[in-house]
Amino acid sequence: MEDSCERLCSTHFCGDLETRVRSYMEFPGRVSPRDHIAVALSGGKDSSALLLLLHGFQPAWPDVELTAVTVDEGIGGYREETMDAASDLAATLGVRHEIVAFTDLFGKTLDTMVKGRENRACTICGVMRRNALIHAARRIGATKIATGHNRDDEAQSVLMNVFRGDLPRLLQDSSSGGQGCFLPRIKPLSVVSEREILTYLLVRGFYRDLPECPYSSSALRSTVRVLLENFEERFPGTSENLVMLRGSLRQSLPRSVAERGLRPCRECGESSSGEICQTCRIQHLLQD
Ligand code: SF4
Repeated sequence: MEDSCERLCSTHFCGDLETRVRSYMEFPGRVSPRDHIAVALSGGKDSSALLLLLHGFQPAWPDVELTAVTVDEGIGGYREETMDAASDLAATLGVRHEIVAFTDLFGKTLDTMVKGRENRACTICGVMRRNALIHAARRIGATKIATGHNRDDEAQSVLMNVFRGDLPRLLQDSSSGGQGCFLPRIKPLSVVSEREILTYLLVRGFYRDLPECPYSSSALRSTVRVLLENFEERFPGTSENLVMLRGSLRQSLPRSVAERGLRPCRECGESSSGEICQTCRIQHLLQD
């Protein structure tokens, strides 16, 4: 199976998916000799496939180091099982595994942070988790961060930024790290769909049925996701077109514009599109 409607046996399906992800990685600047890649591993299917794939490429890049990084946000009834899945996978592959918890960094679990404002859970979680990931990556001396965003996630992000009227975010490209002072981020699964990832895990025998985050249904993303799924069914290629459109927009602008606004936060020094980064803004909000 493949999204282009080609019918492939399981061996060729896996080979095709691996080739596409590897081509992404081989694009200039994505992986360099002696890189130390912090692989964001939530334990869910995307991040598990990401670690599995990058680990599989390692014989070709013996001097590239991988460390799996799991952020424990503190989400009761959900995180415990996914944390176990993350630890099991890292142990099975023999990849070093680092865990960073919201309680250690911010003094609170996500459940506590969002009490009374559950409808904003994903916004708060996304910002704080990104900060936690950067913190952990710095702590281990990583040179890059790899995340498991797939093509559908990326298409959803494009549409969400359009719906919010957020042009700077739509154009912002953090893949270079911006101005040389932030950790570059790569998204090797952005060339494959969620369906393909699920199939890949099933074929490779790494699929694990895990609970869904209790906050996921309240997010704008979940509405956009359903919308895009309907579009994709009626007009195949919609998601890929959206991602390509963003890429074309970014390419048509000077690099400085795509990186525009990425500067150190006045309070914590982390990457920010304004004077104060979103993590600091949220921390102020949580104190009120
Ligand atoms: Fe965080 Fe929202 Fe994802 Fe749950 S669904 S882990 S709250 S971003």
